[in-house]
Amino acid sequence: MNPTATQSREQTINALRQGEKFLLVTHEHPDGDALGSLLAMSIILRSLGKDVVSFIAADDRPLSYEYAWVDVSGVVSEIPADLESRVVVFLDCGNTERSPLVEEAASPEQLLNIDHHHDNTRFGSVDYVVEDASSTAEIVWDLAHGLDVPLNAEMAELLYLGLITDTGRFMYPNATPKSHEMASELLAAGIDGNLIFRRVYENLPEAKLRLFARALTATERHLDGRLTLSILTTDDFQQCAAASSFTEGIVDFLRAVDGTRVAALIRETSDANGESYRVSMRSSDGGIDVSKIARAGGGGGHPAAAGFRSELGRDDLVALLCAQISEQS
Ligand code: AMP
Ligand code: MN
Ligand code: MN
Repeated sequence: MNPTATQSREQTINALRQGEKFLLVTHEHPDGDALGSLLAMSIILRSLGKDVVSFIAADDRPLSYEYAWVDVSGVVSEIPADLESRVVVFLDCGNTERSPLVEEAASPEQLLNIDHHHDNTRFGSVDYVVEDASSTAEIVWDLAHGLDVPLNAEMAELLYLGLITDTGRFMYPNATPKSHEMASELLAAGIDGNLIFRRVYENLPEAKLRLFARALTATERHLDGRLTLSILTTDDFQQCAAASSFTEGIVDFLRAVDGTRVAALIRETSDANGESYRVSMRSSDGGIDVSKIARAGGGGGHPAAAGFRSELGRDDLVALLCAQISEQS
């Protein structure tokens, strides 16, 4: 593993051209970019005549309501028996711990790592990490051009999903002129952009609204308001009959509060890893690098959006956030 090396676009295109059998994977709790880049890449490789298997863990299914319209019927939840003979392609996954393929991916023959996280651990045999890409979908779109694969509407819909979710609907600073060019090209391919926005951001289950209400009520300000945070307990989820994925979007409300430099949503979870907290952070003005804080807590992410899982108690967790923010401001 080399922490800095990133291979070129040409090497990546060659590796995709030369491979015959592929296994495509993404990170756990797949978001719009994870799904969009995974499934679009699968269509691209199939159109080149490749044998492609895409994987999403059983724990991550069914997909949450925002993505329920995404067709994952052809995606497997069992690691294929012929894994050894497949080129494994990780999409949108900053480190192997974020994938259920941790063991299997330990010593891959050929492992392609296609991502845009600046703190990607470069775990592949080919690492194509484009830090200034808004989304992995944007990288996949560019690779489709490099592979001379024409866009079709199905691909374009998936790529648009990745693009809009990772740019916060084109609001974050990662939405560059190139991202907007991509959007233009995808819309011209015949997709209904408004319909995709409505599917992802509307049709909220009422339980999600109730969970938002609890989170907003529980809002706390720390460090003279520089840190705005909220905590959701497992009881909150139960009382609202809310799924854990219904927290999506809460931290964006917190970030918008006047005086906030970092927003954090802390949620209690009890999953296969036992009782723990999941922390989601957003930086408001970009002045504080939340991926640094996430790494201090054992996770990672982007400077403006990052997260980690922690076994610390609630007070220690808040103290950690405060100390880390004070160090940077
Ligand atoms: P979230 O707050 O869950 O939307 O996550 C924001 C970003 O933080 C994601 O896009 C990931 O890049 C990163 N992230 C979240 N959780 C983790 C984790 N446990 N380990 C590494 N990166 C993470
Ligand atoms: Mn992602
Ligand atoms: Mn992404």
